[in-house]
Amino acid sequence: MSYSFNPSDYVHKLEEAARAGDWTIRYLSPSSASTRPWLQRLAPSASTAPSLYLSAGIHGDEYSGPLAILEMLAQRDFFTGFNVTIFPILNPDGLVRGIRENPDGIDLNRDYRNSKSAEIISHIETLKTLGRFNAAMMLHEDYEGIGAYLYELNDALSPNLGNEIITAMGQHVPIDLRPEIEEVLAVGGVIQRKDLILKFGSIEDRPDWPEAIYLSMNHTRVSYTTETPKPFPLEHRVQAQIAAVSTLMKALRKQPLPS
Ligand SMILES: [Zn+2]
Repeated sequence: MSYSFNPSDYVHKLEEAARAGDWTIRYLSPSSASTRPWLQRLAPSASTAPSLYLSAGIHGDEYSGPLAILEMLAQRDFFTGFNVTIFPILNPDGLVRGIRENPDGIDLNRDYRNSKSAEIISHIETLKTLGRFNAAMMLHEDYEGIGAYLYELNDALSPNLGNEIITAMGQHVPIDLRPEIEEVLAVGGVIQRKDLILKFGSIEDRPDWPEAIYLSMNHTRVSYTTETPKPFPLEHRVQAQIAAVSTLMKALRKQPLPS
């Protein structure tokens, strides 16, 4: 019953969908299991269109994110009107083994400060060539999750957006309503910056930045890290991720932003 993820099959399907949608395909440093494509597409009205950053597949035991990206790409109009940058498969060597870390045991999502892994050194090199985004979303899973939850670093969009996103995810999987998640205060499945600071101190001072912190330091004022609960059916988790992205995009459409 355990699901196994085949990175080279995945990349093949992703490239096919990207070509069909006129995306530009570029590559990070390759891994052993597959190449690591990343995708970009500008809206025809690129200078006024909102810009969105998505990433997934940084933890190799989390499948709903990469699969959700594939499904969104297959929906022809999903990203219409946006400038979009996507890193769909950051850790193929972890994914092929079904492990969180890379094969050297490095948690890639703690490697954005004083980076050691080839995977993240290459990701940051590429990020340095990119500008700012109106919002970012990083798609994750919690292997022992009882429901969906998310981390919100939102200094520019509606303060209610975290709730809207979790509510949309809740159409597909339960919401984790515990008052504390991963030992941090949570309200209705939403964990906010102020509560992370309360728990860990200034996020920027942490020695082990995750991708979200790196992005908030350098690229965006709005980032969401979604977590779907792995014990629930994969297709429901995929749909929850898609609903999260789609809700963020709806908010960006309504409200053109300073980046
Ligand atoms: Zn994760």
